[in-house]
Amino acid sequence: MSLDALDPYLTLTQAAGGLRSGAFTSRDLTEASLARIDATDDAMRAFLTVMDDEARAAADQADQRLQSGDASESTALTGIPIAIKDLLSTKGVRTTCGSRMLEDYVPVYDATVIERLREAGAVMVGKTNMDEFAMGSSTEHSAFFPTGNPWDPERVPGGSSGGSATAVGAGQAIVSLGTDTGGSIRQPAAFCGVVGMKPTYGRVSRYGLVAFASSLDQVGPFARTVEDAAALLQVVAGPDLSDSTCSELPVPDFSADLDKGLDGVAIAAPREFFQAGPGIQPEVLAAAEQALDVLAGLGATIDRDASLPTAQHALTVYYILAPSEASANLARYDGVKYGYSYTDGDSMWENYEGTRQYGFGDEVKRRIMLGAYALSAGYYDAYYLKAQKVRTLIRREFDGVFAKAPLIVTPTTPSVAFKQGAVSDPYEMYLNDIFTVPANIAGLPAISVPAGFGADGMPAGLQFIANAWDEATLFRGAFAYQQATDWHTRHPSLEAPSIKRA
Ligand code: GLN
Repeated sequence: MSLDALDPYLTLTQAAGGLRSGAFTSRDLTEASLARIDATDDAMRAFLTVMDDEARAAADQADQRLQSGDASESTALTGIPIAIKDLLSTKGVRTTCGSRMLEDYVPVYDATVIERLREAGAVMVGKTNMDEFAMGSSTEHSAFFPTGNPWDPERVPGGSSGGSATAVGAGQAIVSLGTDTGGSIRQPAAFCGVVGMKPTYGRVSRYGLVAFASSLDQVGPFARTVEDAAALLQVVAGPDLSDSTCSELPVPDFSADLDKGLDGVAIAAPREFFQAGPGIQPEVLAAAEQALDVLAGLGATIDRDASLPTAQHALTVYYILAPSEASANLARYDGVKYGYSYTDGDSMWENYEGTRQYGFGDEVKRRIMLGAYALSAGYYDAYYLKAQKVRTLIRREFDGVFAKAPLIVTPTTPSVAFKQGAVSDPYEMYLNDIFTVPANIAGLPAISVPAGFGADGMPAGLQFIANAWDEATLFRGAFAYQQATDWHTRHPSLEAPSIKRA
């Protein structure tokens, strides 16, 4: 079929339906995705690597599977173009993690989630830009180039999974994968007006994910709708012998409860997350307040007295624990094992120093220093150990709220997407995750869904948080909200190929 006839904003559900009805083939969808990337990525710069040849081959294989007529041969993802954050190892395809350190690194194996996507017949169209080693909230810390926001190319898409959010928001791919350590799926999803979801810690294998902070990192989906995010998570989730932190719990059907609605369901709106304050844009709070009205209209009882007083300190805890784990994880980049190697020094130490000096960007070095400090003798008890204790308190506080309500709702971010270059103070950048980090600290599943528009007509997100392993209720709440609103159907007026970076 003619590529122009294909809507770049097809949902996964619509695309899967079209593939089965024969309205189009996976090759059609894939050519349309590649053409869209070609036409828009000068402005968006979402991709570090476009996998043209691999994508076409995978599409043709998917078409064979789909045409076999045997439904058991295919999955919800068979033939669907998907973009992948460039920290998931892809066999034979460069995996940079947004860093010069891994600029030329080509993995010899697939991450477990990539293996599952291949088995499901998904069509990977490319690897997406990100903040170096997933450290950042704007994708400006990529060692290569910044990515644009589909609603305004001069603004950031959020981060660290900015490329994956833009790929979906700009109609370049139907769904994508990102990772979320402190908010890196939900915050860019909110900034780009798409759905982004972080599963319960341990729901998805981390095998083959370039490690940032191992007790927090989780892979999760970006999509245009809640049901699409659930369908993608369904494929990648589940036990994996290669990752001992990946739970052995069986994976439930995440879509089973989708349309059960919210009548009579208690929803906590913790007051600390709805308070005006410095850096919190009133429009974003107003969007979240409006969303509470929508949820109440669906029959939910909103508990405005709920409170998570210690969760306010989650960001502080995060900036001790995440850098500590990062400083240990990033010790492996020594110029010997793999990745960039500086060899002009006069000694082994000079080569080691040169490798890390050139290979890492400033933000990564800052995190390594913070982490090494927090872990050092004399400071370990005062910082790292104390942060671990507060982590436990935060987890318990969530338990208290979940004893009364199965869902928590908050704004996703304190502001809408900002202009590139506008935030130069690291601490100000860190504050982007003030609402998202608590779920990572407590290991809980959380999702951001489009919830209107804030300052300058930029998208705002609404976050749902559920108890550990209860993704089904999370999707149910988010789906009910989505069905009662039309924010997810709004798309940027990005007219390919006329938009070009200023
Ligand atoms: N923005 C946070 C950070 O810079 C979170 C990043 C993430 O979730 N990977 O660490």
